Amino acid sequence: MLAPLGLSPSFGFGDRLGLATPGHIAALRQSGLDIQPIFSQQSVRENARTGRTPQLVLDEAKRAVEAAGWDKPWGADADHLKTVEDLPPFVSAGYTFFTVDPGAHVDNAADTDSLPVLQEKATASRRTSGEGQNWDELSALYLSGNGEAGYGAFDSEKLLRALVKYGRAIRHTIAMYRRLSELKDSFDFEVSVDETDAPTTPLEHFFIANELTRAGVKFTSLAPRFIGRFEKGVDYIGDIAALDAELARHAAVTAQFGTYKLSLHSGSDKFSVYPLIVKHWGRRIHVKTAGTSYLEALRTLAVTSPALFERIWALGLARYETDRATYHVSASPTLFPAGLPLPALLDDFHAREILHVTFGSALTEFGAEIKAELVKNAGAYSANLQKHFGKHLNLLK
Ligand SMILES: [Zn+2]
Repeated sequence: MLAPLGLSPSFGFGDRLGLATPGHIAALRQSGLDIQPIFSQQSVRENARTGRTPQLVLDEAKRAVEAAGWDKPWGADADHLKTVEDLPPFVSAGYTFFTVDPGAHVDNAADTDSLPVLQEKATASRRTSGEGQNWDELSALYLSGNGEAGYGAFDSEKLLRALVKYGRAIRHTIAMYRRLSELKDSFDFEVSVDETDAPTTPLEHFFIANELTRAGVKFTSLAPRFIGRFEKGVDYIGDIAALDAELARHAAVTAQFGTYKLSLHSGSDKFSVYPLIVKHWGRRIHVKTAGTSYLEALRTLAVTSPALFERIWALGLARYETDRATYHVSASPTLFPAGLPLPALLDDFHAREILHVTFGSALTEFGAEIKAELVKNAGAYSANLQKHFGKHLNLLK
């Protein structure tokens, strides 16, 4: 049954083609893992690129859920919503999980701004916002010297930086929450700043969570921007020992509240990170994967319809420089090792990222052919999804 999942551990499977849910269900069943699935999880950006609507995405997942006889709870995630205008189509389609992304309102420069610049920005923001986030009140709350809580303590400079960096984003999130509360009674609410340039320190995470809580925002998960690089469809890039320590500090923040889960976005293929989130976050986790169900579709085509795959790959190479603009990827077509056979090409770092971010172009050009081939080879596609997600789910045990 489609329902909010609350604080249960949960896992988001994105499906850009509307054909992956049977494979997702098979992977979940085979893993035996006690984790609640999100089967529909599409952002406004993805819908624009795939030409699908919130309603269509959800209807396709519903049909697959019924056909597979999945009778346990599952969710539908309206992903990366940026404005209040994004909300209504997802509400009326029946989504249960709303991910609000106030990233455009995060001031990344606050990490390095000088004190006078920070003060000027804080004053200007107070003048325009008119309410809340009063400095005296914040000082009394955050500078009372409650000491070491596992994630550090504020001094006035750190507090000022946190306020300038996240103050507007917090206000935007509150506005989104209030609007959604007018439209809908019960829902999961996620706050995500994972796509910003500047990482979220554990202390800033505390500031965001505490300010939202003070404003009455009942959020069920929060996705900070973690250190290092979480690129699409490949493993973590960065200092894994530093990430290990950082994830422990974020968990210490969450433990202070006990009211929400930590959320890991771009979770596909982050095999080195999964054991760490299990260790530190326990069952208070939400993980999102998105584009790799599409990559598994291409892996299927590479075997069943190699000629079609070659055309998708050629288009991907041609479109990559343009299509990568809104994604965090570092692949370079010039570093791609020539002559890789199919389907091994699908395991190459550069090929994965190139194909991952050019899905919109590929679907515009070849969407009908791709879908027809996958319908014809549904068993092979499901087997590939099962193997791919089985590897993910097993690491969360
Ligand atoms: Zn994200």
